[in-house]
Amino acid sequence: MISDKIGIDDIDCKIMDLIQKEPTLTHTEIAGQVNRSQPTVGMRIKKLEKLGVLKYQAGVNIKVADLCFGRVEIQTKNPKKVIETVKNCPFMINAFKLSGDRNMSILLIGTNYKFLDNIVNIHFRNNPDVIYAHMDIIENVVNDLVLPIDLNLDFGEVSLQATCCEKCICAQ
Ligand SMILES: [Zn+2]
Repeated sequence: MISDKIGIDDIDCKIMDLIQKEPTLTHTEIAGQVNRSQPTVGMRIKKLEKLGVLKYQAGVNIKVADLCFGRVEIQTKNPKKVIETVKNCPFMINAFKLSGDRNMSILLIGTNYKFLDNIVNIHFRNNPDVIYAHMDIIENVVNDLVLPIDLNLDFGEVSLQATCCEKCICAQ
């Protein structure tokens, strides 16, 4: 069971299921459905939140947003440095460290292909830590995918210069 893997019991599991399906349920409503008191449910939810297992994510639904999303495959000798770049670049939404030669996969946001390609140029091409970098455009997102995106980003800022934007580590 996946619940064992994340270290929660059956009641926690039921509570999580209910919240995932309907995040606006009150503790009292949840209590009624799991046959526990409202304070017990409140305590359990607090615990799950503290553990970091239960998160409430507000953001932009990638599936419907009229933006351009890319996935960059990277081979690097220095994943730590690439992870720092991802954390500091507002156009990089998330990244995965992978096994194998192509050891990082990065999710990018932009307005069009050229924009994304520029971000890859600025950060990863001609970067001595990066042996290989290849970007593909994400054409279709199957399920809803909600990710927090900085909505004040200026997509006009990225040019063919050496830096990406004021907010990015590359401009400091
Ligand atoms: Zn950047």
